[in-house]
Amino acid sequence: MNTPVPTFTQRPRIAIVGGGPGGLTLAALLERHGWTSAVFDADTAADARDQGGTLDLHPNEGQVALAKAGLLDAFMAVARHDDQEERLLDPATAAVLREEIPEPGTGQRPEIDRLVLRRLLLDAIAPGTVRWGARVREVVDHPAGGHGLRLDDGLAGPFDLVVGADGAWSRVRRALTPVMPIYTGVTFVEFWLSEVDQRHPALARLVGHGTMFALGDGKGVIAQRNGGGTIRAYAAFHRELSADERTGIPATIDRAEVLARFEGWAVPLRALIAEADRLAAVRPIMALPPSLDWAARAGLTVIGDAAHVMPPLGTGVNLAMLDAAELGEALVAADEWEAGVAAFESAMLARARRVSLECQQGFSDMFGVGGAQRAQDLAPR
Ligand SMILES: Cc1cc2nc3c(=O)[nH]c(=O)nc-3n(C[C@H](O)[C@H](O)[C@H](O)COP(=O)(O)OP(=O)(O)OC[C@H]3O[C@@H](n4cnc5c(N)ncnc54)[C@H](O)[C@@H]3O)c2cc1C
Repeated sequence: MNTPVPTFTQRPRIAIVGGGPGGLTLAALLERHGWTSAVFDADTAADARDQGGTLDLHPNEGQVALAKAGLLDAFMAVARHDDQEERLLDPATAAVLREEIPEPGTGQRPEIDRLVLRRLLLDAIAPGTVRWGARVREVVDHPAGGHGLRLDDGLAGPFDLVVGADGAWSRVRRALTPVMPIYTGVTFVEFWLSEVDQRHPALARLVGHGTMFALGDGKGVIAQRNGGGTIRAYAAFHRELSADERTGIPATIDRAEVLARFEGWAVPLRALIAEADRLAAVRPIMALPPSLDWAARAGLTVIGDAAHVMPPLGTGVNLAMLDAAELGEALVAADEWEAGVAAFESAMLARARRVSLECQQGFSDMFGVGGAQRAQDLAPR
């Protein structure tokens, strides 16, 4: 069965696999230039899934991408400017070891909840551009020429260009390279606390308006203020993965097991786990090798985590959006779009290599033995 796609106003006919921050930024930028794209996302609706924690968009990355897409003012209007504090706590006592509290109105990295960002990008895209509930299994040759997308319910296409913005377990990347993400050894278990100012005022003060870290002995408790009076806390520790998890299938973990790993940690830090409303997700931290490269294939490319998932040091979304904006600009500006994509791809991979090495180093500083000591010198990005 053939799946309908929009009527394209331009050549190349572009499919974007993944309606996350990278894919939607690309669609929004193309739309700004009068180009049409077809976005396919496995989520059954824009808000069907818990999207994860708050994001700070950096002036030289995520904010640049939004400006290129004509959305910086809209972002600034909905971003949380007051949630840019950072503090590092002692894991045994919860005493503040270091903190940065920007003067009101001076912080350069406003925060935004992921769903708010998704809606902001969707509002800039023509209705019908995104097809929800469309899980792409494989990129194939289309019988009419060009590329096709094999979906659960049929074949979509033909497309001249398929952009994989489908995250760490990208199906599009598999058409370029067999290399898969490698487990860093560290898992983040994510907890949610809601109505914190009313229900958990002491924890709300502990976390403050921003991000709080406590690191030591290869482990960490990291908590962030999110919108709507919620806190998202991560318990991070080393553990073995099951065979399923190595291929991206999520695992479950018992809260008591998580708490047992933080024996001896300060009571308020343990309370972020013990008093949470729910355990929201188990996230093994995966990374592609920084040296990843592939032989270019006409009409296929990947951006964001699909191209360069790296340990989270506050950079992944920013890079995904910057990749998207730069690819979009390369497409609309190029006389020969194939050459534009090739030039974009090699510049993107060179940048990703550099940032990925920095993130790997920062991550092993945080979660290696003696992480607490090293963390005092770290400025989380
Ligand atoms: C614990 C944690 C904390 C993080 N914190 C930050 C942070 O503070 N700041 C920051 O910048 N980054 C952070 N990151 C990294 C960030 O989440 C990613 O780098 C970012 O989401 C990548 O965006 P993306 O658009 O490339 O991919 P994704 O956000 O992964 O989006 C991919 C999209 O593709 C869809 N999809 C997947 N497979 C298919 C398929 N087969 N067919 C169709 N659709 C598909 C998904 O539904 C999704 O919508 C964090 C990561 C983790 C794990």
